[in-house]
Amino acid sequence: MKHFNFHQTSEIIFGTGRIAEAGEIVLKYGRRCLMVTTPDAPLQPLYERVKKILEDKGIVVAHFDAVIPNPTTETSSAGSKMARDHRADVILGVGGGSSMDAAKAIAVEATHEGSAWDYLFYKEPAPDPSKVLPVIAITTTSGTGSQVTQVSVITNSAERDKSALYNPVIFPKVAIVDPELMLTLPASVTAPTGFDVFCHAFESLINPGTGAYVTLLAKEAIRLVIDNLPKVLNNGSDLAAREQMAWADTMAGLCIASAGVTLPHGMGMAVGGLYTHVAHGEALAILYPACTRFTADAAIEQYAFMARTINPELNDTPDKEAAGHAYTEIVKFLKSVGLFKSLKEVNMPEDEIKTLAKQSMVLPDYKGNPRVATYNEMIELVKEAYYQS
Ligand code: NAD
Repeated sequence: MKHFNFHQTSEIIFGTGRIAEAGEIVLKYGRRCLMVTTPDAPLQPLYERVKKILEDKGIVVAHFDAVIPNPTTETSSAGSKMARDHRADVILGVGGGSSMDAAKAIAVEATHEGSAWDYLFYKEPAPDPSKVLPVIAITTTSGTGSQVTQVSVITNSAERDKSALYNPVIFPKVAIVDPELMLTLPASVTAPTGFDVFCHAFESLINPGTGAYVTLLAKEAIRLVIDNLPKVLNNGSDLAAREQMAWADTMAGLCIASAGVTLPHGMGMAVGGLYTHVAHGEALAILYPACTRFTADAAIEQYAFMARTINPELNDTPDKEAAGHAYTEIVKFLKSVGLFKSLKEVNMPEDEIKTLAKQSMVLPDYKGNPRVATYNEMIELVKEAYYQS
């Protein structure tokens, strides 16, 4: 059997209604809490509710509500200043990946010299574990899996670059996953965040870091997304389907924390850094068909699994033939959830095709793909995603 490592240090509190336990959980880590969120109106009642749950336990709460989707270094610096002014001893991220990632970046920047960007995963010195503030994550999307990962994705607007702090010290101490909080998610966020779950699980399956544990979780997460994403898009109040999506999201987060992502995420991060208006899951959806066509022959068993999960009529088809259907099946699935579009449709300038190809090779993710793209192949991948229709 292939050797594997499996990391997980976040306590997972999963289930409808479990938000009620937030006060006692936060109190274990301190009495002065900085709550980190976006300013969105639909989430205001949730923020008020969480604040009351905390205050009822005697916790002194400051609310940093200026997180923007694809949070930037400016977001982290402003939040860190508030954390220092409040003398916060615990950081609570409430929201999607943007709020949870901002919370993690603030947990580092508030107690270190410089900015969060100085502590990206490949830079030295790394954050000091004795200084990083504890993070509690309450997820409201399904999702990025950020509630159980050691990753904080940050955008540097000045450099048009999106990268990540990647260090075990930012694993949330506790992840609260309450599917009821996702009932307010509009379809426009449900679809791309739901597809992000699929991508985390699938890319963990084809990553060299995969193993028996990740495979078990990833295959189940993929099945759950294929079954339940159409259901939650059809009826956003379907709590049973929201629960399945939240569980898939958590499993897929556990997968990336141990195995990691591959080519589509490396390219998707480049898209997010260059074109900040494109949501993370939307970028992945645009890139998946081209990446599937490019990679399928190099990971036949996994792409056969993808094709058969989307279309069970392929269950009796041999692996190689089923993998050959993966491109058609993923396009079919993306169309069914309204996510099939091109880079051209999201207004990427045509004369930046080479810029995007180059930027897609900055993060090491593409090197973990079963077929590693050369620069010229990367240009062809970007062109395919740009012109597809
Ligand atoms: P998001 O956090 O950017 O949220 C998108 C929008 O939906 C925001 O306006 C948010 O306020 C709103 N929203 C969130 N939950 C809601 C709810 N329940 N009801 C109504 N509105 C709600 O979206 P996301 O996809 O969860 O996060 C994307 C970010 O996470 C990107 O920066 C991405 O790169 C990053 N990411 C991080 C990891 C990781 O492991 N840390 C993994 C993948 C992606």
